[in-house]
Amino acid sequence: MEKISVAVRFRPSIAEEAAGERQWRIEDNRISLHRPLGTPISGISFAFDHVFEQSSTNASVYDILIKSIIHAAINGFNGTAFAYGQTSSGKTFTMNGSQLDPGIIPQAVRDIFDTTHMITDREFLVRVSYMEIYNEEINDLLSLGNQRLPVHESLERGVYVAGLREEIVNSADQVLELIKLGEANRHVGETNMNVRSSRSHTIFRMVIESSAKDSTSSVDAIRVSVLNLVDLAGSERIAKTGAGGVRLKEGKHINKSLMILGNVINKLSENGKHRAHIPYRDSKLTRILQPALGGNAKTSIICTVAPEEVHIEETKGTLQFASRAKRITNCAQVNEIQLPSYPHRR
Ligand code: ADP
Ligand code: MG
Repeated sequence: MEKISVAVRFRPSIAEEAAGERQWRIEDNRISLHRPLGTPISGISFAFDHVFEQSSTNASVYDILIKSIIHAAINGFNGTAFAYGQTSSGKTFTMNGSQLDPGIIPQAVRDIFDTTHMITDREFLVRVSYMEIYNEEINDLLSLGNQRLPVHESLERGVYVAGLREEIVNSADQVLELIKLGEANRHVGETNMNVRSSRSHTIFRMVIESSAKDSTSSVDAIRVSVLNLVDLAGSERIAKTGAGGVRLKEGKHINKSLMILGNVINKLSENGKHRAHIPYRDSKLTRILQPALGGNAKTSIICTVAPEEVHIEETKGTLQFASRAKRITNCAQVNEIQLPSYPHRR
């Protein structure tokens, strides 16, 4: 059993959103709210596994929070990292990054190929898929028109998205090209990309399979791990977005998925060992992320927040979510299956 690791990251402040009277202070891994003269506001103080200040880089987020999960995935453990926070708090910047400061996803992809190339006694097979959950519908981002995919469950595969394109990949550049394709597919026919991206969840998934190269035994031990890197929809409350019409429908769904995520996290954090019913099945997102939340996976959550005073209420909401998430325990184990060995497999 191990706790999920939870970090909070402040994005740099935006000039137009002028600094206010109250401000967040970071001391080691603790965040608290202070009044102008520096007096702390009682009761508003939270501690996490790590707090990344405004000046932090994606490189440091990767090294401190994500790298160990990626290396565990190479060794057969399931892994999940997701970014949670209000729109414009830095989720996509953290996951995708920029040319100068690549995010978690491109760093993970490069690290996986660099590392597996150095492991000479095992053979690796890596597959990727990329999907979006929008209005509670799952769309394949690697295959245009492959939309509204169903979630199925089987004994061998667990919960999976049926019909999702999975591409076998051999290099980091190939994966990064596929991600670009996915992003381009997402824009097709989209008039307001900002609205869509803040209201949908994207899940980038890598499946890493490996086996010993020159095993002489009559069985092959095959390790299979699933790595999910997730950019969630904005967590802001619907009231603030002034939703109506189509946006209300979207907002309701977003709220449904995120609301169920919140419920799942609350239930898991409350119940400890004696778990009541956990409503994973109530949303697509929580069904897909089930192993990551209280199951067989190593999980890191990065909660992104805005430093400005106008966002204090949203930031408090995010910090409360993060505080509950850090009480969740998972039990990750190496996924290894034994198969009769065939000469042609080597
Ligand atoms: P979200 O995905 O949460 O809606 P974004 O990642 O799009 O938010 O961030 C909003 C804006 O702030 C973008 O222009 C982004 O480049 C910038 N930004 C966010 N976090 C950082 C950061 N840590 N360093 C530099 N720029 C950032
Ligand atoms: Mg975003």
